[in-house]
Amino acid sequence: MKDRGSTSPRIANISAVTLPDTAAVLNVDEYANSQLPLGRTGFPKQGGQSLSYWLQQVRCDALLNHRSTEDLPKEVDTVIIGSGITGTLVTKQHLETWPERNVVVLEAREFCSGATGRNAGHCKPDQWRHFAKFEQAYGQEQAIKILKNENDTWKALVAYVQINQVDCDLWVGDTLDVPLDEEVAKIAKEMFQRYQEAGGKTDHIKVTQDPMEAAKISRIKNAKACYAWSASTLQPWKLTAHIMRANLKRGVNLQTSTVARSVSSGQNRGRKWIVSTDRGDIACDTVVHATNAYSAAIEPLLRGVITPKPHMCNKVIPPRSLSGSKAIQNSYGVLLPDGGLFSINPRCTSDGAVMFGGSNPGQKQLDDWVTRHPERCIDDGFSRVENVTECVREFVENELQGWTDAELGPGEGFDYSWSGIIGLSADGVPFVGELPGKPGQWICAGHHGHGMARIFTAAPGLVKLMNSEPWAATGLPDVYQMTPGRLERLRVAEQPSKVAIV
Ligand SMILES: Cc1cc2nc3c(=O)[nH]c(=O)nc-3n(C[C@H](O)[C@H](O)[C@H](O)COP(=O)(O)OP(=O)(O)OC[C@H]3O[C@@H](n4cnc5c(N)ncnc54)[C@H](O)[C@@H]3O)c2cc1C
Repeated sequence: MKDRGSTSPRIANISAVTLPDTAAVLNVDEYANSQLPLGRTGFPKQGGQSLSYWLQQVRCDALLNHRSTEDLPKEVDTVIIGSGITGTLVTKQHLETWPERNVVVLEAREFCSGATGRNAGHCKPDQWRHFAKFEQAYGQEQAIKILKNENDTWKALVAYVQINQVDCDLWVGDTLDVPLDEEVAKIAKEMFQRYQEAGGKTDHIKVTQDPMEAAKISRIKNAKACYAWSASTLQPWKLTAHIMRANLKRGVNLQTSTVARSVSSGQNRGRKWIVSTDRGDIACDTVVHATNAYSAAIEPLLRGVITPKPHMCNKVIPPRSLSGSKAIQNSYGVLLPDGGLFSINPRCTSDGAVMFGGSNPGQKQLDDWVTRHPERCIDDGFSRVENVTECVREFVENELQGWTDAELGPGEGFDYSWSGIIGLSADGVPFVGELPGKPGQWICAGHHGHGMARIFTAAPGLVKLMNSEPWAATGLPDVYQMTPGRLERLRVAEQPSKVAIV
């Protein structure tokens, strides 16, 4: 990897829009997912992980290394593997559905220290941007359903936080999608129109096609258009911790620093399955794989179907010229040529530190490097990857009004960056349902870098299926369902399809 000062990628050097007559330009996955080798996987990295801003804020919270009992129970009804937002919400729904059943949650490291504890803190429902790509992959009806589900998920998350008064820095406001290039703006406009013509709901989206007006609204100098709709930002660890604390009060057994290594037949113990860990075995009837990026490490059927990929997030303290009453007031998706994206979370309701995630142009070089070093595909110890940080720096200095001439004193500007592992789904959408051929083993994973806009409905949906309710009861898009046919099709595919990542 390059150090700062060596040839870093420049936004301006990224070749122009690749496929101007298709939806590809806004498909970040196409940008970030090229040449992805299939089949790589691994268990969560032990030791040397970077600390996200969210994890840094909670170092004295005893939930991080909580173990409800000193030893693992030998037998329970259900083992849930993973304590991210998926495992935590599945646990909640499980406890509400079957209060009498006992549940163990296994977490390989600290509580919620996977992608949920490391993301960019954006819950941004896609409301138009990937419509054409989803339509191409799954047909119009499913494409509309996916976007509707994202909005339902956002509403469910906000309602939970507000009703339960969760202290997690929730912000609700206008998120802005801003194309930074005329070609991108042209294709965005076509895509938006295509979605409208298909009957998609757009009356909640404020659209400005006038570049001067867009620059004024967004405060981005070269904005070519601006699309605004409601979304949220939040502290994801604190939200997940709030839900897990309620689960603990209801009797769940949480076991951190406990890696589940395999799941095998439990017939000789009078149960369906044995979950083997480094600290002993647990016999159970039900297993939930809430392991997202790491799913294939335990379940070989998922190799090439869910693939881990490191992603970066930068924390930046804005200069005084963009602080106080002049602080950034919106979250963003800045749409770059060739499908790159800056996802920006300015933490407007709390400390104003600005998080830059997404698939920025420098991410591609990290991807190439990981492709050459597949053993590092689950490495969330990356920090200060200058190719990525440099692109953010160039963007804020050149584009954000008020930043260009800012004189930065100590404590302002680029603080640091961390990494997390996203779980790419081979067809771009999550897997929700029973693992084919493994009755009693369930999965909700493969959130494709966009889980905050999916999991609040996908996780409770999974528990409905576990309760023998039909797929329709989940309200989820049909294409999220784990079926033998889907799994088989993806296992023989030579390249993953290219659908959305945000
Ligand atoms: C840098 C970055 C930025 C992102 N930004 C956003 C964003 O702004 N908006 C958005 O919507 N999404 C974003 N995402 C994606 C989002 O964070 C994920 O989709 C979501 O958090 C997935 O939640 P999860 O609970 O399924 O997985 P995770 O949070 O990864 O939880 C899985 C857990 O399982 C544990 N585990 C795995 N294997 C085992 C095992 N064998 N034994 C025991 N435990 C195990 C892991 O340690 C982990 O804690 C981002 C991701 C990253 C990495």
